[in-house]
Amino acid sequence: MTKVAAVIRADRAAEAERQSRLAFGKGADLVELRLDYVRDLGLSAIRKLANGVGQRAIATFRSRGQGGASGVDPPERTTVLREICRSRFAYVDLEFETDREYLRSLSRLASDHRTTVIVSHHFAQAAEAPRVLEALDACAAQGEIAKVAVPVIEFEEAVHLVDIVRSRNGRPYRFVLIGMGAGGMMTRALANSLGQEIQYASWERSAAPGQLSLGTATRLRGREPTILGLIGHPVEHSISSTMHEAALAALGLPAAYLPFDIPSESLDQFLLAAERLRIRGFNVTSPHKEAVARSVDELDCDAERLGVVNTVVLRDGWSAGHNTDVYGFRTSLRSLGLRVGDRNALVVGAGGAAKAVVDVLLREGAHVQLTNRTAARAEALAESFDDQIEVLPLEILTRKGPWDLLVNATPAGTKGAPDGFPVPEAVIGKAGFIYDLVYNPPVTPLLRTAKKLNRPGASGLEMLVHQGAKAFELWTGHAAPFEAMQRAAKEALR
Ligand code: NAP
Repeated sequence: MTKVAAVIRADRAAEAERQSRLAFGKGADLVELRLDYVRDLGLSAIRKLANGVGQRAIATFRSRGQGGASGVDPPERTTVLREICRSRFAYVDLEFETDREYLRSLSRLASDHRTTVIVSHHFAQAAEAPRVLEALDACAAQGEIAKVAVPVIEFEEAVHLVDIVRSRNGRPYRFVLIGMGAGGMMTRALANSLGQEIQYASWERSAAPGQLSLGTATRLRGREPTILGLIGHPVEHSISSTMHEAALAALGLPAAYLPFDIPSESLDQFLLAAERLRIRGFNVTSPHKEAVARSVDELDCDAERLGVVNTVVLRDGWSAGHNTDVYGFRTSLRSLGLRVGDRNALVVGAGGAAKAVVDVLLREGAHVQLTNRTAARAEALAESFDDQIEVLPLEILTRKGPWDLLVNATPAGTKGAPDGFPVPEAVIGKAGFIYDLVYNPPVTPLLRTAKKLNRPGASGLEMLVHQGAKAFELWTGHAAPFEAMQRAAKEALR
């Protein structure tokens, strides 16, 4: 079974020991003591740490050349490592490159003190499969556990790493192979099923981007993992991971929810590889919602009607596309107490979200008008419905209205985006209720202005949680822990 090691990066030895004990209390099997961060590291501090928590610790003194914080060169480095090796830590991490000259003598010293030797190599850049295998073999020849880490940016690179592990026939040694960065998270989530020796998990200040949290890592320990996630390009701004991780944790399910940054040209490859990577479901965001609708084996009624998919379930080689945005928006109208039947609504935007919103509003009996930055896209969206939808150019909006409801279904106002308003400011006062699908920030420029004008409004958070809860139920078959998801989403937005 893969052991879970919480990575401790404290700048004082006493603090490293204190945090180690806390991490054990939270279920870590081991801690990796990043001694390169400890500023008061001397021989007595090393001995004290070894005596205190060493029996369950990996002692790592990572050099700058290998991505660490220690700028100490041999012979001083070797002196520190010698002291570590004779101090009875459970494991010591020696670097294949940096410590090459002293590897044999250090390993012997460590073995004499019953310390397991990890020999590691960190690639600075992505590496081809043969080079990665070569590095694993080379590390294994020098230590009891071979550890190799490779930066991963593209999804394909992570798939290659998984394939490398699976093709290790005839190489029976203990190993850790990590794809570094958010792109490599899959190699960490699959650690147990790939037979990795140690899962390095984040503790408080994450030591490396892409590390799973200690909570997720312990939840997956010793179990066949299921991978869920979000595909889009980009995906880093989404809070879906936080929300779904909270739901998985609340129910203790052996699954991880990962972000997959997939450019359009890699979409087919993702869909092909998903099943063998134990991906059992994923959310879909811009720009793939329509392309995925064309690629899956079956569509639910909402997804089929709109040609837009935001959730996919994969089972036994079969893919089913769903549109939980429709459910999410409809349910949020109810929970916000908004009755739209026979009311006038203005929808801004002409993408997948706007389509879901228009669909719900029409089915609830609202009179819908539509506007968008690119008028032709609004025309096309209007024509895709049987009902009458009037398309209004943005320039004439100030002369139109009033509306009972204005829905922003564009990213305008999103944190970090340049433009604040999806419609001219003067239009806001003409709406009875302002519903902004943007949820980050919780109070968008549109909602702030609405408040100034004494207009009630809501952000997209409610819809986000409802659509997420529905997706969760489709993937897991469990009732979604709605409150836990809502709490996590709110906290992530603070
Ligand atoms: P999409 O398919 O990419 O469509 C984006 C739409 O917004 C297009 O009509 C685009 O106009 C317009 N647009 C983009 N930037 C704009 C700007 N700066 N000013 C004015 N209009 C702009 O995206 P989507 O999937 O429909 O999502 C739209 C928004 O809804 C996103 O912010 C998304 O996060 C949010 N959303 C929220 C939820 C939720 O649960 N709360 C669910 C789904 C979506 P052009 O046609 O001119 O390019």
